[in-house]
Amino acid sequence: MWTEAKITRRDVGVFGDAQELAALEDRLETFVSEIAAAGIDESDEHGSTRAYVQRLAEAGFLKYVAPAAHGGAGESVRSTPLCLIRQWLARHSGALDTAFVMQGLGSNPVTLGGSDALAAQLLPRVVAGEAICAFALTEPEAGSDISGMQTTARADGEGVRLHGEKCWISNAGVADSYVVFAREEEDAENGKPRFGAFWVPGDAPGLTVEPMQVIAPHPIGRVKFDGVAVPAAHRLGEPGKGLRIALANLDVFRVTVGAAALGLADRALQETVKHLSSRVQFGKPLAKQQGLRFALADVATDHVASQLLVYRAAGARDRGQATPDQAAMAKLHATESAQRTIDRAVQSFGGRGVTVGETTERLYREVRALRIYEGTSEIQKLVIARSMFS
Ligand SMILES: Cc1cc2nc3c(=O)[nH]c(=O)nc-3n(C[C@H](O)[C@H](O)[C@H](O)COP(=O)(O)OP(=O)(O)OC[C@H]3O[C@@H](n4cnc5c(N)ncnc54)[C@H](O)[C@@H]3O)c2cc1C
Repeated sequence: MWTEAKITRRDVGVFGDAQELAALEDRLETFVSEIAAAGIDESDEHGSTRAYVQRLAEAGFLKYVAPAAHGGAGESVRSTPLCLIRQWLARHSGALDTAFVMQGLGSNPVTLGGSDALAAQLLPRVVAGEAICAFALTEPEAGSDISGMQTTARADGEGVRLHGEKCWISNAGVADSYVVFAREEEDAENGKPRFGAFWVPGDAPGLTVEPMQVIAPHPIGRVKFDGVAVPAAHRLGEPGKGLRIALANLDVFRVTVGAAALGLADRALQETVKHLSSRVQFGKPLAKQQGLRFALADVATDHVASQLLVYRAAGARDRGQATPDQAAMAKLHATESAQRTIDRAVQSFGGRGVTVGETTERLYREVRALRIYEGTSEIQKLVIARSMFS
């Protein structure tokens, strides 16, 4: 049943280890109610991020962003538990969900391409909530088309020096650890651009941050690199192969954006059913109006379809059977349908729906960016269409 609070009772278990997911969900339910009681002030974006990361670490959820060899929960980082965690956290707060996922998105490139020594230095601190992470790919001239990036990594002794600027970087300014992608010297044979991936500590000389503001609480900003020195030991993957690391990382996390959208939509549906059942107009609860019931039936059906797409894609990835279109369809459908579900919730609440401080108003702001980051909806359609013709 879609109104069932327990996500693992909604066909989700068939796509992963049902027992493991059910036990994880019990812990999440307790955690989210404790976080709600703590009432962390999200207007302090850096303070709340640190507080959320600390609590996520204490509750053991950050173990899911690293492999067991470095203090994590499984042999590898798996999408299905990440999805379940994001869905639960996003039900409570988009900022809490962001604090969680950035620990993964910003550290997994080190798991994928860092030396054992670098992974051993960083990942246990990420799991313990001691190092906050960021993933710096987007630039003013390189958004959907990341090959347009202008940040350079110029050879300097055994290492490189970074020059350039990244923008819309989540956790900019609060992060202790940045994974940065930059243009290297062109391929000598064919003159094509080559890109590298690098790990940079937040206090590296030459790294500065300018905050940005988006429509929902989210620590974000521009990160500038003015000759930041990166030793060879902090390179991720082979020279010129950095974009492979970026894309492999996004392969793990893209589907989890769909899961965060599910969490926001879950919350909207719960609030809408409660409101329509209690609000009386024309002498009866609004829930008795067939027009409103039909509208809700449409978004609920969309929501369940999203959920099946998300956990199908996550399960396929964890079994090593993923195809790129699965995660793209899951992200596209889940984020677009969550937007429609939340818009329906706002409409169902009437004037209350857009009143500052109402849950519907917060959800309306929180859901919007999910259709943009980690590949816009249009880019997901390109991926889906490409797989149809290949
Ligand atoms: C809240 C938030 C958090 C973010 N966090 C991070 C982060 O931590 N790290 C990071 O590196 N980046 C981050 N980003 C950046 C994000 O990934 C980019 O905004 C996104 O990739 C889109 O790039 P762009 O904004 O430059 O849009 P553009 O690429 O300029 O696109 C503008 C519009 O054109 C469309 N478009 C582009 N190309 C095509 C095409 N070929 N066909 C059809 N339509 C097309 C797009 O879909 C979009 O609608 C974040 C963004 C936001 C909003």
